[in-house]
Amino acid sequence: MEELAMLGGARTVPRDRRIPKWPLVTADDEEAVRRVLASGRFTAASSGEKEIEGLEREWARETGTRHCVAVSNGTTALSVALAAAGVGPGDEVIVPALSFVASAIAPLHVFAVPVFADIDPVTFNVDPAAVEAAVTPRTRAVMVVHLHGLPADLTELLNVADRHGLTVIEDAAQAHGAHYHDRPVGSFGAINTFSLNVSKNLATCGEGGLVTTDDADLYRRATMMRQFGELIPRRGPRSYVSHLLGWNHKPNAIQCAFTRSRLTRFAEESEARDRNVRHFLGRLAELPWLKVPTAPDDRTHVWHILRLRVDPEPFGLGPEAAGPLRAVVMRALRAEGVPATHYQLMPLPAQRLFQSPLPGVDRKYRGEDHPNTLRVIDDSFTIQKAHLHPDARPLLDLYADAAAKLWEHRDVIAAEATALDYTPPWREAEQIADAEWAG
Ligand SMILES: *Cc1c(COP(=O)(O)O)cnc(C)c1O
Repeated sequence: MEELAMLGGARTVPRDRRIPKWPLVTADDEEAVRRVLASGRFTAASSGEKEIEGLEREWARETGTRHCVAVSNGTTALSVALAAAGVGPGDEVIVPALSFVASAIAPLHVFAVPVFADIDPVTFNVDPAAVEAAVTPRTRAVMVVHLHGLPADLTELLNVADRHGLTVIEDAAQAHGAHYHDRPVGSFGAINTFSLNVSKNLATCGEGGLVTTDDADLYRRATMMRQFGELIPRRGPRSYVSHLLGWNHKPNAIQCAFTRSRLTRFAEESEARDRNVRHFLGRLAELPWLKVPTAPDDRTHVWHILRLRVDPEPFGLGPEAAGPLRAVVMRALRAEGVPATHYQLMPLPAQRLFQSPLPGVDRKYRGEDHPNTLRVIDDSFTIQKAHLHPDARPLLDLYADAAAKLWEHRDVIAAEATALDYTPPWREAEQIADAEWAG
């Protein structure tokens, strides 16, 4: 039996084995970018510009919505959506305690107050009961994040929103193409957002974002929010009249052209990823100590991030060993060449940002209020990016081999976990934060 790499044995994933590049760039994608450079039309305000408009039309079709507005990134997409929906100073917006920080920053950018709700530990998405419990007379909107590519419980969440008269905004930055009850995400909320960041499933060659809605008025307000509150005509002269407080969140035509080119292969690549990831997760599921992500029958998972939880029981360890075991597993996998990472070291409300004074916010944010989020952060790790490329299967097979190797050495892994002087990720993060801040 080969020794664990962390104890000096040979690595499962050879050192020169590279993660396939993401985003994938084909000759067609390069040609699309060159066409824009040759056209000289680079922004939404360039007369005769076609790529931004084209991407908006195609993404509206893809999501089954009437309107789409392209913007500069996924975070500005959220601010634009919130502002278009009229969310403003003093309004409370319910946000999942586990998400990317942008989900919680966007409400602050419109001087609204994020209020956090705990997640379901199986789907990692916000728990509808926790959302309902967080509603107050000041609640205005619910930001529904489809975390890691799995649609949230939309039926229940839309019901909660309905009962309390709340606006639903989907943050689908991680879930392009995912379906709930046979309908694409980004078509359920009043106004919804996507990111085109290089790390996402539909990636551009830089930064970009998309806002979708069926509502003509929200659409018009969203276009104004992205360009100084102006109503810039598609063709003809600009009036320079600012009607509303907007930003400059306009997209770039090169990035829109690149995304349009990527979009022609999006379905095919998503299917390849789905096959590869199911194969990989099927292999991992044979190991009794790994809990792999699954999709309920009524929705599809687009596998943006793979979050794997460890179960201490098959190692003969008690539930209190979950965190230490996860830490040892991550160390052992990384030594084998598997890029096991954290995704979020703490619940969003525990971020330093939310521990500092914020405009218009007079509430105390506490990570401890979200025990499911803490538990999941403690006992899970993620695989990111390595599985996105359609040719990722051989690499994923090596990752599965590495996980199987750890199980062969379960006595060593269990002993290391028992002996570990353990610091949970949120405490580690505090130490990192102190050190970074001090410079
Ligand atoms: C990436 C991401 C965003 C922000 O998108 P950017 O394009 O990086 O600004 C927002 N929400 C979630 C859930 C994300 O994963």
